[in-house]
Amino acid sequence: MLSLHLFSAIMFVDVAFPISSYRQFTYRVPKEFIDQIRVGTRVKAPLGKRMVTGIVVARFTKSDYRGEHRNIKQLVDPQPVMDKKLWDLAQWMSSYYYTPLGQVVKTVLPAKLSAKYSPPITSLVTFKSFGKDYERLQKRAPAQTRVLQYLSTQDGAVQVSALKHLVSGPNMICKSLFDKGLVDLDEQINLPDVTGFTFSKIYKKIVFTAEQRIVLDELSQKLNSGKFSPTLLHGVTSSGKTEIYIEIVRQALAMDKAAILLLPEISLTPQIAGRFRAVFGDQVALWHSRLSHSARAWIWKQVCTGNINVIIGARSAVFAPLKNLGIIIIDEEQEYSFKQESPAPRYHARDIALMRGTLHNALVIMSSATPSLESYYNHVKGKYIYLRLNERYGSVPYPRVHVVDMIKEQEETGKFQQVISSMLMKKMENRFAKSEQVILLQNRRGFAPILRCGDCGSVETCTQCEVALTYHSYERVLKCHFCGYKTGKIAIACRQCASINMKLLGTGTQKVEDIIHGLFPNVKTARIDFDTARNTVAMTKTLEKFANGEVDVLIGTQMVAKGLDFDNATLVGIVNGDTGLFLPDFRSGEKVFQLIYQAAGRSGRKKPGEVVIQTYNPDNPVLKHAAKLDQKTYYNIALSERQELNYTPFAWMIRIEVEGIKKDHVNTYTDKIRKNLRSPAKGIEILGPANCYRERLRGKYRMHIILKSDKKYDTNGKKLHSFLQKRFSAGLLDKLPSSIKAFVDVNPISVL
Ligand code: ADP
Ligand code: ZN
Ligand code: ZN
Repeated sequence: MLSLHLFSAIMFVDVAFPISSYRQFTYRVPKEFIDQIRVGTRVKAPLGKRMVTGIVVARFTKSDYRGEHRNIKQLVDPQPVMDKKLWDLAQWMSSYYYTPLGQVVKTVLPAKLSAKYSPPITSLVTFKSFGKDYERLQKRAPAQTRVLQYLSTQDGAVQVSALKHLVSGPNMICKSLFDKGLVDLDEQINLPDVTGFTFSKIYKKIVFTAEQRIVLDELSQKLNSGKFSPTLLHGVTSSGKTEIYIEIVRQALAMDKAAILLLPEISLTPQIAGRFRAVFGDQVALWHSRLSHSARAWIWKQVCTGNINVIIGARSAVFAPLKNLGIIIIDEEQEYSFKQESPAPRYHARDIALMRGTLHNALVIMSSATPSLESYYNHVKGKYIYLRLNERYGSVPYPRVHVVDMIKEQEETGKFQQVISSMLMKKMENRFAKSEQVILLQNRRGFAPILRCGDCGSVETCTQCEVALTYHSYERVLKCHFCGYKTGKIAIACRQCASINMKLLGTGTQKVEDIIHGLFPNVKTARIDFDTARNTVAMTKTLEKFANGEVDVLIGTQMVAKGLDFDNATLVGIVNGDTGLFLPDFRSGEKVFQLIYQAAGRSGRKKPGEVVIQTYNPDNPVLKHAAKLDQKTYYNIALSERQELNYTPFAWMIRIEVEGIKKDHVNTYTDKIRKNLRSPAKGIEILGPANCYRERLRGKYRMHIILKSDKKYDTNGKKLHSFLQKRFSAGLLDKLPSSIKAFVDVNPISVL
């Protein structure tokens, strides 16, 4: 008996650290921590000579480790900061994305989880009664009497600070009244300040249409079933998808379940967040990178304890440790921003959502007007529940789409490099006359993409990335859009031939804005792109202004194409429909199609709208089908192309990217990795090594090897995964010099 007791008092734990090694380390747990230490608790422990914070990944009473056990030094949190399911998820990610657990944990948990934060608190006071000694109170304490009298005339709780106009020191006075039992005191915690992120609350009376009802009934049923239900909600723009999210989340909350809503761009959060806040109040927290570390840490802990039940945010919100998670909604599920490109793990929030959904038996709604080909294919294969919304709410007809052949335009007008065609100009004029609004999409920021010599044709490029620099007229600088390099030295003469015939060519959002000012001097414009989006507060104001009609034309990159809801915008102009069409990537067509289709959806959300697409390639199938808003045909064409080339979604893909400063080094080591992969298993194909399309980025040369595994022989991707896992164990990336970095990208979204 005694020995058993002693035995169980010894405990060891494995700890994972956020380092790039796969190893976990075993420690002895000092007696005083044994009761508290759990899987998911953060601890401080010695690692080499340093004291490092790690996370407990396993507990046991016997250790196989032969060496000397060092002690856990300290517990960082009194409670685990992740639960068992999130922990399981992290382990799955570590294996699936070939990333050390410690590094996964660093991605999953917010940085500086220990940062202190005290949210602002509002004190509330409510009238109870005048009490038995009211006369005495009147004589002795006139200030208290005044407050009590005032409160008795109010309905419900009043903010203590609002009593300042009656008395000085309202806090003390309310406290005295409370001690006498005459009032109730309450405290309301205010969520971390998100001023500038939320629109003022938007209230709406909703009576669902028959079509919406069918979708909702199906969703409720899945929610009630308590089973993992991956669902593709394919609804045209403006069909009421957002209203459906709100309703299904309301049902989940009523069942004591929690929800995550993932949005592709933080800049689009304000409107949807506003709609959610109006309905759910402070149960909803926004999760975004612009909150301070301490505020994020605080929200995380509130979520852990169940005080917050709805999280809205970009991709990392998928990790929010909600208790009893019932729903995950991924709005615009085809968006690439759901993929984390760097650092590892290179995860996709949709894949994570599906895995979390499996672990929590939750409803996972992937929603879009233009689903990704993967999700569309999964529906075709019967893997997803498929729900369709065909009608725009209020029976607004689809916009009419016009395609302008810019080559013809050139021939007819005799003007080269027109930015705004005569058709687009006429239609804009017409909108302004009716006080309606216009959205212009130009998927390139800056003033003019490139500075080119008119004589020899050479282009000013970034010395680190070898891509053309973009001119930004407001700041008068040339910028590299890959590495962020910026220079105010704008070459007057060509570096190659010394000609001074340097020209700004091409069109960015800033230039479009300038041209519009030139054409319509009285029209108010606003611009939304990566450059302006960095200031979220200003950006929200811009959107609000456009919504209020203070701005006539909204000009922007792909950001304007997505999710925004403006009733009075009846014309969308796509300034250059060809942008991105010819990138050598298997997804380039899909991407352009989705962008045009989405942008078209911005037009005429209440009134009938029009779309003008300007292109130099009017016969291109992507543009042709996008102009007809003919999704089905285009998706089928795109799918058969992918099948022919054996790309996603017909094959599982993993990309190994190798980069380094020296070109020949990169070459040598990529070859070596290729050799280490040896011959592939049956059904697995290995492409490369090849140079990446962007051969040099941020000063580093890049090469890659692509592995593909035909789904016919590898239904769930396990074959490819274990093939690569075995190669890893056999030392695939061992002995790389520190000057060479290799990354594994599972399910790459692009091969550029
Ligand atoms: P989506 O998210 O599919 O683009 P929204 O949910 O934003 O569509 O709906 C488009 C507009 O129509 C919004 O202003 C929304 O409030 C409104 N709407 C949709 N369905 C209804 C309904 N049943 N009753 C009232 N308004 C609705
Ligand atoms: Zn030149
Ligand atoms: Zn660069």
